[in-house]
Amino acid sequence: MPFVPRLREILSTLRFRLVLWITLVVFLMVVVTNIAVREVEQRALSQSYDQFLLDSLEDVHLIVGRFEPENKKLLFEELTEKVKANKKRSWFLQLYDEKKQPYWTSDDAPPLGPPSFSGDSNGPFDEKSSSPDEKRHRVYEKRLRKGSGETYYIRCGFLQIELQDDIAVLNRAILVASISILLAAPLGAYVIALRATRPITEITTTTAHLQPSNLNERLPIRGTGDEIDQLSRTINGMLDRLASYIDQNRDFVANAAHELRSPLAAIRSSVEVGLNKSRTPEEYVVILADVMEEIGRLAGLVNRLLILAEGDAGRLAGRAQSTRLDKIVRESVDMFDAVAEMQGVRLTMETLAFAVVPGDETYLRQVVRNLIDNAIKYNRNPGQVTVHLRVEAAKKQAVLVVEDTGIGIDREVLPRIFERFYRADKARTREKERAGYGLGLSICQTIIQALHGEITVSSEAGQGSTFTVRLPLAEDAAMARSLECGIRN
Ligand code: ADP
Repeated sequence: MPFVPRLREILSTLRFRLVLWITLVVFLMVVVTNIAVREVEQRALSQSYDQFLLDSLEDVHLIVGRFEPENKKLLFEELTEKVKANKKRSWFLQLYDEKKQPYWTSDDAPPLGPPSFSGDSNGPFDEKSSSPDEKRHRVYEKRLRKGSGETYYIRCGFLQIELQDDIAVLNRAILVASISILLAAPLGAYVIALRATRPITEITTTTAHLQPSNLNERLPIRGTGDEIDQLSRTINGMLDRLASYIDQNRDFVANAAHELRSPLAAIRSSVEVGLNKSRTPEEYVVILADVMEEIGRLAGLVNRLLILAEGDAGRLAGRAQSTRLDKIVRESVDMFDAVAEMQGVRLTMETLAFAVVPGDETYLRQVVRNLIDNAIKYNRNPGQVTVHLRVEAAKKQAVLVVEDTGIGIDREVLPRIFERFYRADKARTREKERAGYGLGLSICQTIIQALHGEITVSSEAGQGSTFTVRLPLAEDAAMARSLECGIRN
């Protein structure tokens, strides 16, 4: 890949952005910490120097207070010792008499002039921090009034440069530490980003391999329970669903092709029979009638497949309109009356409540007919089929129940009867003229679900089955009533 697009690709990666963000955050933290630490440390250093001066001032004050003027020599010796003991801090001491004339001064004391301390309103030991020459010295002064009447001014100080040197050393240490952290930050950030994004790279590589024809591979679950594991689990779940959907579709296409092949083969052989020698018009009529019958079966199958395809595409609900379900149920029962009688089955309608539901009339008719047809087809002689249509006003639902005393369905296969092309009772469905494709119930379910309803079954092998369809009633009650009036008129 050319350099510029490659660079652009790298810059847009999550890994790069993570490195950038972590580095930026570390940089900001270092800057803020730097400022805070410097501020605190400088203050602490300066306070420790000040405290030293104040303590020294107090010591000298005690020493001077103890000595009588005639013991001057001894006093000076003690002061010299005191200054020596603290030489490390370039400490100096100055003592002034009451006229603010130098009385005693340590060797390296700077020429700072008389004490700036003035007035006596603050009591005998007033204390004042002042720095006559701020840049160079830090100075504390204290006045001492002895009981015998003499007054002294004590001044302690040190070179500012010493404090500044200490601060500079501290700043250098902080700077070195900060630069090291800043240099290490991108590296550390890269390692973190690499570790964080590696599972994502694995996910990308694995999912890139997946083909619709082979969805067996699954993403590894590392067991950390983190977001990456959750993502992998979600993708694996989606792959499971996709694989099963693709499998179902594959089976569906194979079954559809298989079912389409039989009528086509029948048509082909009928046509071949018609073509292989010349026949009488009556013979052609018989052949054409056979062809017509097979074409009818073919058309029926294609129509069912189309309904399922429409349902899969989510287009069944789009054609919704309000329909009188009770009317459809009555018509269907009337229609199957003769067929039931022929099979020795008593078909009765127990309840028929007025019910308007949202849904396409053709599709709803298909549902009702499928259920009644099955109830008769999988019945005994003599047998019974009972149809109920009631309304549950509280739930705003129409409930259609088709109950039969037929062969029933085995418990093991019960969950499968809504699958496409599934036939539980293959022997019976082989009877050609009423043979089903195993599509009726899956079509019912597709239609009912598209109308936000529900279809359920309860069955006992050898006892009979009960299919229950629940559909929401049409929202517009006024329209429902006007429909009712229209029908009655
Ligand atoms: P088919 O076209 O084969 O009737 P359906 O999808 O309508 O397909 O039904 C699927 C299977 O469910 C049938 O093959 C049959 O074995 C079983 N079945 C459906 N309705 C009943 C019923 N009322 N009693 C017993 N078995 C039934």
